Amino acid sequence: NKSLVWFRRDLRAFDHAALHLALTSSNQVYCAFIYDTEILAPLPRADRRVEFIHGCLEELDAVLRKLGGHLVVRHGVAADEIARLAAELEVDAVFVNGDYEPQAIARDELVAASLEQAGRQLFSSKDQVIFEKNEVLTLSEKTFTVFTPYKNAWLRQMVADPECLAPYPIEPHAARLAPAPPGHRLPSLSDIGFEPTNLRELGIVPGMSGGAALFQDFVNRIGAYDEARNFPAVNGASALSVHLRFGTVSVRDLVRSVNALVAAGNGGAGAPVWLSELIWRDFYAMILFHHPRVAGHAFKPAFDAIEWETGAGADAAFEAWCLGRTGYPLVDAAMAQLNQTGYMHNRLRMVSACFLVKDLGVDWRRGERYFALKLNDYDLASNNGGWQWAASTGCDAQPYFRIFNPVTQSEKFDAQGRFIRRYLPQLAMLSDKEIHAPWTVPAMLLEQHGFRLGRDYPAPIVDHAVARQHTLARYGVVKPSG
Ligand code: FAD
Repeated sequence: NKSLVWFRRDLRAFDHAALHLALTSSNQVYCAFIYDTEILAPLPRADRRVEFIHGCLEELDAVLRKLGGHLVVRHGVAADEIARLAAELEVDAVFVNGDYEPQAIARDELVAASLEQAGRQLFSSKDQVIFEKNEVLTLSEKTFTVFTPYKNAWLRQMVADPECLAPYPIEPHAARLAPAPPGHRLPSLSDIGFEPTNLRELGIVPGMSGGAALFQDFVNRIGAYDEARNFPAVNGASALSVHLRFGTVSVRDLVRSVNALVAAGNGGAGAPVWLSELIWRDFYAMILFHHPRVAGHAFKPAFDAIEWETGAGADAAFEAWCLGRTGYPLVDAAMAQLNQTGYMHNRLRMVSACFLVKDLGVDWRRGERYFALKLNDYDLASNNGGWQWAASTGCDAQPYFRIFNPVTQSEKFDAQGRFIRRYLPQLAMLSDKEIHAPWTVPAMLLEQHGFRLGRDYPAPIVDHAVARQHTLARYGVVKPSG
């Protein structure tokens, strides 16, 4: 019997649940990836994620070829292409790793139905997370909506069920991979209608090798992660999010490595904190699976009643935020980082999201969409979770009256303005004290640096203290039950 493995957000050839299952249950296994025109059509022609995927596929094909197989790559509507390919290759079954996004679930249902009509089966495995769906429940068998008790139950479950971390080996079964036909080649970026970006200049290396190199580097710093992760100018986090998004690393593999470090006493204070972040990722995937309405609505329905700013004023404020022209240096530097690199430091995601919603009064969904367009690591579950946290509309969100002050955040987490200077060179000549709020510095002093507010950098588009009062009033009408 023959089978097909359809790769989606699992672009690796090691510790891979679907590929392992296919290899251990079939005589011959084909591997395929579809550039889905339904996902790609609305994207700009230069998109770092598409270039990243392209790089991942080239490496995946090369690695599969070394193992004796190859990767078939097609371009079209994924649901149609998979059914067509399954027929062409005369396979009996298609294997995938499960996805928790509502659109992906609907697509997979469609694929399963059309395969079934032709007498073929679709098998879906858990691979993207450690625990999914109903695997972590409260004592009364309910799903969690608060993170800390979820995390504690998750950790208990990991100890109780060590199988959850068991690897899915590929190499011992590789003889069953179908070899490449003569003339086998992958489409180039331009074949699928895309252009190169600055991905390589940024030093972002796609594929399994890129993910492994980042983790190798991070392991040496993981002990200090709990502190270092707060400071955007410091290389304190792992930068693995894009690799977790596209599955060039295995989350099981990462958790096994962290556990081994902790067990050997080498994880410091940082390793358990980093593990918590991976648990947040599982948490938000679980929330999206059980509450698909969060894609478009507040997790707490009472918050859907909030009236956000609309009209030309809100549009102008939103545009200033997108372009990094709010006049608040930390927010603007954060948006410059996003626009120039497709990455934004976690603290800055919290600060800039909070600023859009609570200083500018703009609907969190507009910010969510902008991040979705720009983030290399864009993931519906985590992005939505992050935005609803910042907007106080989510499960276990920050309370609505907690409003980050963008100036004190800047003074605290970028005290010497190193991050701001990196992304806003026009402010580089200001002193460490002046750089966080240039409008508070007398114009004459700024002139001494040859700097004029309004000419070289915008004056703030909103007064934080006034905006804070508006926000308290705006949220005050909600009176949520909890
Ligand atoms: P590290 O600090 O090294 O963390 C390791 C991994 O844990 C990350 O790669 C990520 O997979 C996971 N992780 C860390 N923090 C979170 C979190 N709060 N929620 C869920 N998973 C987490 N993360 C995304 O992967 N995609 C998104 O689209 C996304 N959008 C966000 C939007 C907002 C408004 C906020 C506040 C956060 C968002 N995050 C998102 C979470 C977090 O900011 C990023 O995962 C993190 O900054 C990525 O950098 P890193 O890989 O160096 O993370």
